[in-house]
Amino acid sequence: MIGDGTRCVHGGHEPGVPGTPMHPGPVLSSTFELGLPSDPTPADFYGRSDNPTWRALETAIGKLDGGECVVFASGMAAIAAVLRLAGRDGALVLPSDGYYLARSLAHSELVPLGVEVRETPTAAPLPSLDGAALVLLETPSNPGLDVADIAAAAAAAHAVGALLAVDNTTATPLGQRPLELGADLVIASDTKALAGHGDVVLGHVSARDPELVARLREARSRGGAVLGPMEAWLAHRGLATLDLRLARQAQNAAALVPVLRAHPAVSDVRWPGDPADPAHAVAARQMRRWNGVLRFTLASEAAVGEFLAASRLIGSATSFGGLRSTVDRRRRWGDDVAEGLLRFSAGCEDESDLVPDVCAALDAITA
Ligand SMILES: *Cc1c(COP(=O)(O)O)cnc(C)c1O
Repeated sequence: MIGDGTRCVHGGHEPGVPGTPMHPGPVLSSTFELGLPSDPTPADFYGRSDNPTWRALETAIGKLDGGECVVFASGMAAIAAVLRLAGRDGALVLPSDGYYLARSLAHSELVPLGVEVRETPTAAPLPSLDGAALVLLETPSNPGLDVADIAAAAAAAHAVGALLAVDNTTATPLGQRPLELGADLVIASDTKALAGHGDVVLGHVSARDPELVARLREARSRGGAVLGPMEAWLAHRGLATLDLRLARQAQNAAALVPVLRAHPAVSDVRWPGDPADPAHAVAARQMRRWNGVLRFTLASEAAVGEFLAASRLIGSATSFGGLRSTVDRRRRWGDDVAEGLLRFSAGCEDESDLVPDVCAALDAITA
């Protein structure tokens, strides 16, 4: 059994050939030599269809997911490909409290085409799936950090002939392997922890069924939502340290949770790794390890402003899973949550610096 750290460092890299780079650079090419008309078409013939730098990253991620990976230009491009794949076959069942653009895409582009969309909260049991073609879960959900039972959802979806897709962005493939739990498709925004350095936007879908994989590749080629080789290469470089980064981020989150719970300015702390969390039992059953993404609520927008102004380390940004600790006030983006709800992404700072900084910033709140 190969460990997470080894897989992250070695995944997608070929055995060394003397005199060639140990870390080959990105293959920056739209155009590939085709040879004579009678020669077979090579794997690489045009940059929108395939590229060796994509394949290296796809090999690495696919091994972690336990399936075959297809990279996309963003997490949303990956979600769009999956929703379009299934939308013509029946209803789409989406989380009512997950990433807002998945719902927005379904309602603004698919409903007008006659696709039925049903929404259900992550923490609730699934409603009737009669007539469903695809169930999408997001677990742990963003920003609420609620957890859905993947194996139970897979059984319910398969009983009516629907596919189960899981948005695995917050967990990462080290934290959770939805394909092993019965899901047909795993989707992620690798813009977040997987690439991990805040310098690229990309996503992927992995599946085990070769027909689904082929349809995803065709959808990518036709839809054109492809990433540049440079983005793939940067993400592959970032992936090498995912195991280390998650370990530090989870350590920091575990240290912050009791401090947050005890502070009078804070309510509503949620982190699936916390044994006191309502989602902990399900999360512990299906997740392999924790990460640094948690949520809590301050009294108001003004309180969030005071917290940010008083902190020396916490950045204000709408992404997560990066090296620096950041918060995002989700009401700003229209999520149906309290004014002061913050998604907190614990970064890779030292616990001994981060915890006192957060404490001091909370103590500075007067609003
Ligand atoms: C960020 C995010 C997305 C969208 O990904 P992009 O790479 O920004 O397109 C989808 N799902 C979840 C859970 C996310 O956090």
